[in-house]
Amino acid sequence: MTDADDIRPRHDDPAQAPAQAPAPDLAPAPGTRAALKTIPAYKPGLPPTSRPGVTAYKMSSNENPFPPLPGVLERAHAAADGANRYPDMFCTRLAQRLADDLGVPTDDVIIGTGSSGVLMQTVLATCEEGDEVVYAWRSFEAYPIMVGITGARSVQVPVDQRGRHDLTAMAEAMGPRTRLALVCTPNNPTGPVVAHQEVLDFLRAVPDHVLVVIDEAYVEFIRDPAAARGLDLYRSHPNVMVLRTFSKAYGLAGLRVGYGVAHAPVSTAIRKTAVPFGVSTVAQEAALASLDERPALLARVEELVVERGRLVAALREQGWRPPETQANFVWLATGARTEEIAAELSAQGLSVRPFAGEGIRCSVDVPDANAALVAALRAFAPGR
Ligand SMILES: *Cc1c(COP(=O)(O)O)cnc(C)c1O
Repeated sequence: MTDADDIRPRHDDPAQAPAQAPAPDLAPAPGTRAALKTIPAYKPGLPPTSRPGVTAYKMSSNENPFPPLPGVLERAHAAADGANRYPDMFCTRLAQRLADDLGVPTDDVIIGTGSSGVLMQTVLATCEEGDEVVYAWRSFEAYPIMVGITGARSVQVPVDQRGRHDLTAMAEAMGPRTRLALVCTPNNPTGPVVAHQEVLDFLRAVPDHVLVVIDEAYVEFIRDPAAARGLDLYRSHPNVMVLRTFSKAYGLAGLRVGYGVAHAPVSTAIRKTAVPFGVSTVAQEAALASLDERPALLARVEELVVERGRLVAALREQGWRPPETQANFVWLATGARTEEIAAELSAQGLSVRPFAGEGIRCSVDVPDANAALVAALRAFAPGR
């Protein structure tokens, strides 16, 4: 590279150089908003470090350990042939298919780049600087980031000792600036669902102009008959929206496709905040093909639910007291030992998601992985 090729700004002329660089942790990067300074960066679950002789498992992101469902990759590969063209921006066939399956109007279905994509669109569609978003904490770590991006304020209501939402306190936390409430059920990372009746009571206390999002990313794994049924709540309440994804039970996390269901005035607004053509044809086709494989999907989910039961039982046997999980992960309140334990698990090829000082979230995986996790945790077990 010659000097002429170097397009980086140069400061050989002292008059051009910034006289005094502001402290890097205080100055906004050129052109960027001050609000971004305080937003935490998303920490993705790490892949395991592979070591000779040790089978490594990634139990850090609640992904599906199984590959995409039968026939899905063939449809995805075929769709890639048309990669020179933009995708169908409205995801017409997928929206229609989901609407038929769920028994809702097509116009109410919003397809996005994962349900996080739909949630980001939703926050952008509802919140301005100074508005408030109420949600439980600890919950999905993307929430504070998305709220912060808009300049809105997070009102975090602590989960109880058993990792459950306190919906009474959440209703009480609403103020005149509240635009949005997020209800994560099952709650990531703690695991419990909210009860249907509890949400009905909550909705009675929430003003009609507040949009309530029921985040059901793990809905396929729920076995508790008292759990909130997001779609029923959406049907009976114009201010309720449901979020679902192909990333977890369907095993398509890498293709980025999820959806929301919201009543037409809300869904129309939310569609406007999308990045155009975000959901690729490959993702749309893979999602459609996955919906054709419902029996195979249910069989896999059931396998993971059975494994969840065995994993939780084995952990209880060691003296752990994980909160009641209805998802494909389990939460261990490891407190001050969190990072030490996560490091040891990592050394044994098991990558989990530690939250420093609080606890560890472990995804339910195949039997060998779960057995390795139980064996590795024995040394740290609180005892019975
Ligand atoms: C994984 C997850 C999502 C969505 O993930 P996408 O891959 O963006 O669909 C949404 N909410 C919660 C609580 C999750 O754990």
